[in-house]
Amino acid sequence: MKLLSFLAEAAQIRTGALVRDRVVDLSELIASLPMPAETAADLALRGLTVPATGILRLLYAGPDGLAEAVRQLELAARSGAIEQCPAIGEVMLLAPLPRPGKIIGVGRNYADHAKEVGSAAPEQPRLFSKAASSVVGPRSVVKRPATVSKLDFEAELAVVIGKFASNVPRARALEVVAGYTALDDVSAREFQFDLSPAQTTFAKSMDGFCPMGPYLVTRDEIADPQGLQIACHVNGECMQRGHTGEMVFPVDRLIEHITRYMTLEPGDVIATGTPAGVGAFRNPPLWLKAGDEIRIEISGIGTLEHRIG
Ligand code: ZN
Repeated sequence: MKLLSFLAEAAQIRTGALVRDRVVDLSELIASLPMPAETAADLALRGLTVPATGILRLLYAGPDGLAEAVRQLELAARSGAIEQCPAIGEVMLLAPLPRPGKIIGVGRNYADHAKEVGSAAPEQPRLFSKAASSVVGPRSVVKRPATVSKLDFEAELAVVIGKFASNVPRARALEVVAGYTALDDVSAREFQFDLSPAQTTFAKSMDGFCPMGPYLVTRDEIADPQGLQIACHVNGECMQRGHTGEMVFPVDRLIEHITRYMTLEPGDVIATGTPAGVGAFRNPPLWLKAGDEIRIEISGIGTLEHRIG
């Protein structure tokens, strides 16, 4: 399934699934899904509350909830109801998880990018966090803060977690993945590279610095997260072209490593790093400016576009 969040009238966040070019609203179905007792207990212990509906609510409902959503879509397809649904171009998309849990970024996770930064591939994952408040939806305008001059892009595969996960062995790591989407790990490089010590989290957490989407593609549709083409175009010109098979630490190793120390929760996101070609290491460097259009494409996932304002 390709799950998405969109804004409806009365400022409501709705959850839909993309079928052909139509958005089938699953919000009511999701709100009615039973909550597994084990998950409810887990949530209470962690001080978390159950949202009324939304993709996170669907993740909490577990595999039975997803199966029910699939059934509803099949029903809609058979009855012809899909033709009455709005086209994808007619809805205002939000990020699939408009306000995810924690976002964990991975630095220098493609060997060619580590090389352009001027370092060897790391021996351990280089992790940082990105504030959830930096997330914006597809087609957003990301405003460059007036005092930032080194604004940069990083096309990345984003992994969305679907279960509470700690101490997950590599062989079972992908079982905790709900699905995948794309994100732009927008960065103010002066805070990352020109200051000592580096302020990486701050450099990557400013307002709007995490465009994400357009869909959460559920794990069953992606046979191998290390088998995807990833590209980034700025104003139509190709800046990054890579393959997720080039990751230094593939998705399963990242999950194994992180969950040794920290529980991953439903709705958390791992930004898995970017291939070579970012603006900072081009000759001459390319800094984003107002009016620039960024397009990130990941095979099997979709195209995430946004602009700079
Ligand atoms: Zn990054």
